[in-house]
Amino acid sequence: KVVKALKTNALTIFTILGVFGGVVLGISLRASREEKWTPREIMYVNFVGELFLRMLKSLILPLIVASLISAIGSLDLGLSGRIGARAVTYYMTTTVCAVVLGIFLVLTIHPGTGDSESIARAGQSYNGTTVDTLMDLIRKMFPPNIVHACIAHYRTVLKPPVIPPAPPINESSLAGAIVTEDGSAIEPTSPPAFSPKSSAAPPNLHDWEISHEYAQGTNIMGLVVFSTVMGMTLGKMGHKGQPLLSFFTCVSQAMMIITGWVIWFSPVGVMFLIAAKILEMDSFGVIVGQLGMYYLTVMIGIFFHGFVVLPIIYVVFTRTLPFKFIGNMAQTLATAFSTASSSATLPVAIAALEEKNGVDPRVARFVMPIGATINMDGTALYEAVAAIFISQVRNVPLSLGSIIAVSITATAASIGAAGIPQAGLVTMVMVLDTVGLPAEDVTLILAGDWLLDRFRTMINVLGDSLGAGLVNHLSKRELEHVPVTVELEK
Ligand code: ASP
Repeated sequence: KVVKALKTNALTIFTILGVFGGVVLGISLRASREEKWTPREIMYVNFVGELFLRMLKSLILPLIVASLISAIGSLDLGLSGRIGARAVTYYMTTTVCAVVLGIFLVLTIHPGTGDSESIARAGQSYNGTTVDTLMDLIRKMFPPNIVHACIAHYRTVLKPPVIPPAPPINESSLAGAIVTEDGSAIEPTSPPAFSPKSSAAPPNLHDWEISHEYAQGTNIMGLVVFSTVMGMTLGKMGHKGQPLLSFFTCVSQAMMIITGWVIWFSPVGVMFLIAAKILEMDSFGVIVGQLGMYYLTVMIGIFFHGFVVLPIIYVVFTRTLPFKFIGNMAQTLATAFSTASSSATLPVAIAALEEKNGVDPRVARFVMPIGATINMDGTALYEAVAAIFISQVRNVPLSLGSIIAVSITATAASIGAAGIPQAGLVTMVMVLDTVGLPAEDVTLILAGDWLLDRFRTMINVLGDSLGAGLVNHLSKRELEHVPVTVELEK
């Protein structure tokens, strides 16, 4: 029996060993010599991991589009609406739970009080306000050009007005100045320029130049919306929509088969990704003081949410214990940890849900791409904790109103964050903005964020997966009665 269990779970075991192997390899390589590893050497160590990541990423686009269209198209409009509504309700509820838990913890533990000297500051700028970020989020949902959405998207960037520096006052510059009757000169003045390093409020935003700059990455959110509508339409068209629906079903199937092959690379892939990351790290310095307390707060929060709150919700609705379900997702969680990307983990997650947890492909391929895009419980909790932590460090008193504002914007920021490494850090600016903190304060929590990112990505993926299991359970009976228009094989 043991041998059989080992055999069926061999890949999972090897992947988890790969994570530990990566840590050991990274630490040993680091310890093997005095001087730092050069970026080129790190690139060599990372190469196998990079290939694994590239393979996973290559699957995302065709998988999301084809899976959503085929899964939704194979259901009737009413049922796909109900499944979608269940999934979105679950996503929103769990995200709000995560935010509330995070706020409760950060207000109780109060990691931001104490000696703030221990936190280093660096300059970083990000241009944008809450309104712009929210509008960008909605804009992203409606890509004007679907082909373009596959390649790139734009984000709003505000540029401060260019203010020429005040000329030095000397004889010649006085020549241009207005000289009053009594002979004294009025010096030419200009308003102070906004420097991203200063915490002074920027000058009137209405004077800023607004542009939509190219931000690299696929507009997954836009593709999700487009594919959902396309799937619904093809399903509604009946036999006329059938040829296209069969085409997308075939693509989805093919992507899952390729995923099955790519997954075999995960043990070595994750090992080299992690080893290279350890070589790249600045130092092994333990984070202490306020920042240490902040890390602890986030970690307690995300683990409590992922392994207590979410399982309780699962038990309440399905009346089954989730241990086996979560155990079956172990390889997916290891992939999430090593890639730090919900999107890159998506193919692995769908495969595990269908093959190991028996989730109906029509549900898994419908709700998972949406979940990986909008449902990020770990990120939401982290955004709320981080914003309140920074205001504690800065001694900014928070009213109940601003705490509510933090919870709303943290939810929106997690929805808007792309499923890529450290995307949460970028959307955090919006949460900081609501409590009146300058964008560059994000740098207070930069140190070691890459590690937190990996843990929150794990919880993000776990949340999506438990959601798919729950929605599958709730929709089981209805799915049995739906005539199968297009056969989705596992
Ligand atoms: N890396 C996270 C994810 O892909 C997003 C984040 O929190 O930065 O889910």
